[in-house]
Amino acid sequence: MQTHFSKAYLATSDGERANAILRSCVHCGLCNATCPTYQVLGDELDGPRGRIYLMKGLLEEADGGTSGPALGVAQTHLDRCLTCRACETACPSGVAYGELLEIGRATVERLARRRPMDRLMRLWLGLAVPSIRWFPRWAALGRWFRWALPKALATALPERSKGSQAPLSVPQLTGGRVLLLQGCVQRQATPATQAAAIRYLHARGLKAVVAEGESCCGGLNLHLGQTRQALDAMRRNLDALQPHLDGVAWIVSTASGCGVTVKDYGRLLEDDPKYAALAARVAAMSRDLAEVAVASPAPKDGAPRTGPRRKVAWHPPCTLQHGQRLTGIVERLLAEAGHELVPVKDAHLCCGSAGTYSVLQPELAERLRQDKLANLTAGEPDVIATANVGCQTHLGSAACPVVHWIELLTP
Ligand code: SF4
Ligand code: SF4
Repeated sequence: MQTHFSKAYLATSDGERANAILRSCVHCGLCNATCPTYQVLGDELDGPRGRIYLMKGLLEEADGGTSGPALGVAQTHLDRCLTCRACETACPSGVAYGELLEIGRATVERLARRRPMDRLMRLWLGLAVPSIRWFPRWAALGRWFRWALPKALATALPERSKGSQAPLSVPQLTGGRVLLLQGCVQRQATPATQAAAIRYLHARGLKAVVAEGESCCGGLNLHLGQTRQALDAMRRNLDALQPHLDGVAWIVSTASGCGVTVKDYGRLLEDDPKYAALAARVAAMSRDLAEVAVASPAPKDGAPRTGPRRKVAWHPPCTLQHGQRLTGIVERLLAEAGHELVPVKDAHLCCGSAGTYSVLQPELAERLRQDKLANLTAGEPDVIATANVGCQTHLGSAACPVVHWIELLTP
């Protein structure tokens, strides 16, 4: 694709990167076939090829110092993008769509005039949800006043969790040592995940430590186009993780949405002279729990390996299969533990959770959720397993429990 940027813009890191990504797209359209919003809406501008074209127009317009028609159109269609990155997996030219989207969204947020309620909602989501301190209080308040909230927000609120929200008590064992990330939303919404991960690591002789003061990874702000807030959150998180890195083999994430962001810290902070080296170190040490599980020794003789055998429908989050390109590992672990995996149609498609998407684009998110649940339950599973707290809460359904896969591998 041809681009027309000024020398001044091309001299910036965003300009150089956007130009390289745009020029790598040959407009073949193969990516459209795997795009959930294109499948639902059937509009070229709601597919990756159309969005790439819109971002080119938006960035050229912004480079020229104007904010004209391209801005409004790009805003609408970029807002509808799930950031699922299925288009990246499908693209034969290796177009880094997710990186381009970060630049496009940040430009929209800088230039666009949103309706006051929309602005307020984005501001609130970017401040409240990643806050370890305030999110539980907001969630509790929201549950009290659920009746008064917009339906999308009321549905997205996590239920009062049955597990403990006290700081994790981690067994101190001999053997390898890993730093276990606790996440921001996950520790409130699905604490059973972390408890199961600790049991699993414990059974394999791995000593898990947690970093007090760990904060949000920054992914949520990044998806909202709030780049400055996202980078600040990453720096705060790096400050909290740094004292725990020596002697640790891996930094382990049990939520694939956090893991995909932490693995990208090196790129995201490469221009920051103070944090670039630490960010690269943390990114290189980061692993999804599935990578650690497959590399860990089996439990000692006599230790129970798993709970009861179940019929499982596996939902691979986009952040696991497209973002981290980790496919087949959890399926293998579940099968080796004796669970029966039922076939699931269109497993590559997003469930509609996508961070704050289910709140900001409720109709599309609900349509994708219904389609996903229909496919997941077609094989009549006992349980749906996934790897990210967002998918788990979004898919939560009385008909079939939804758990993190690690819960099926621990007694
Ligand atoms: S598949 Fe890749 S090269 Fe083809 S239109 Fe999509 S992003 Fe561009
Ligand atoms: S990230 Fe997902 S929703 Fe967005 S254009 Fe790519 S495939 Fe479509």
